[in-house]
Amino acid sequence: MSSSVKQSVRYWGFLFLKCLIAGGIAMALFLTQSAFWPMPHGYDTTYMAYLFVFGLITFVGLGLFFLAILDQRYRCRVCLRRLRMPVPTGSWSKMLQFGRPQTQYICVYGHGKLDIPELHFAGVEETAWTEHGDYWSELCSTGEETGKRP
Ligand SMILES: [Zn+2]
Repeated sequence: MSSSVKQSVRYWGFLFLKCLIAGGIAMALFLTQSAFWPMPHGYDTTYMAYLFVFGLITFVGLGLFFLAILDQRYRCRVCLRRLRMPVPTGSWSKMLQFGRPQTQYICVYGHGKLDIPELHFAGVEETAWTEHGDYWSELCSTGEETGKRP
């Protein structure tokens, strides 16, 4: 299996694991509610309160899925660490001169950068992940391989 396939499986597997945990938490809340408060029969205020708590648990579960997906968006595709050092680029007022406004995040271990556009012309636009080699080794090299002094 190639390295990029391994990274992709690892990246999406981590998201799947987080979604499983979120679903497990929601299911545990549903089971706790049904264990301590069985579903009432008849349409009275107790039934409405039961439905309110059921809906609240549903929203908590959906919120956990949302947080899992949002967290995954800001993770390195190689090492799964959180991306850091947000740098705003472009300009809102001088877009033709400096480009569209976007925010760039980098992996502190030098695996790549993520460009997140802040301006969406047609719906939500995709983020752009650019994978690098190990740029820390390029920055920290002494230049002996090329014969140049840093
Ligand atoms: Zn990384």
